[in-house]
Amino acid sequence: MKTSLLRILATAAVIACGTATPVWSDTDDPNEAPPLEGVDNMYPTVNANWTCVDGSMSIGVFCRTDDYYVSTHNQDNVRSSTATAINLTWTNNYAATDLQRSVHYTQYTSTDIVYQDGVTPGNGDVIGITWCRDATSTRVCGQHYVRFSNDYTINQYVTCHETGHAVGLTHGQEAYPKVSNSSSLLGCMRTPYYPGTPALLGPMNIANINSAY
Ligand SMILES: [Zn+2]
Repeated sequence: MKTSLLRILATAAVIACGTATPVWSDTDDPNEAPPLEGVDNMYPTVNANWTCVDGSMSIGVFCRTDDYYVSTHNQDNVRSSTATAINLTWTNNYAATDLQRSVHYTQYTSTDIVYQDGVTPGNGDVIGITWCRDATSTRVCGQHYVRFSNDYTINQYVTCHETGHAVGLTHGQEAYPKVSNSSSLLGCMRTPYYPGTPALLGPMNIANINSAY
């Protein structure tokens, strides 16, 4: 599994990756220029080099979506609070990117992102998980599924994070060069999730999305 899980703070160590590659220091120094063009956290990278395959929640990967027209559908099990958070992330976070969202009120095979609420892996510690259901090449997925845990009220940070995976954004340890998974450069792609963290996509994610699509 390629760590597409968003866990809460309590199990932070679970998704830590290897440490062989030097990690950018994250000093939170406002005078430190973010290496916007120096860090690639858009799949594929040398540290996110898996093959895109048809998967399931238990055996799944995320990949790139097929183009900048991103259609989304909410399954009937999506709570109204989750739907609100999904809309917030598209209007407040991803509007700053080249991605153009359209809403599918029916789920089609062509729907790019299918959101659902339900049971997630683990013992209640996974807030969200994203996987490819329909790989159209070794790098591109025609349809990602995003599941949010029924155990939590889903907020904009979580929808920003999982939507990021569904268009190819990685965690810090899957970026090249690697950065800390908790680096503020990652915006809402930071993990683990600390309740109260602002739901910001951030300039690095925006730059990497716009260079890809
Ligand atoms: Zn994640």
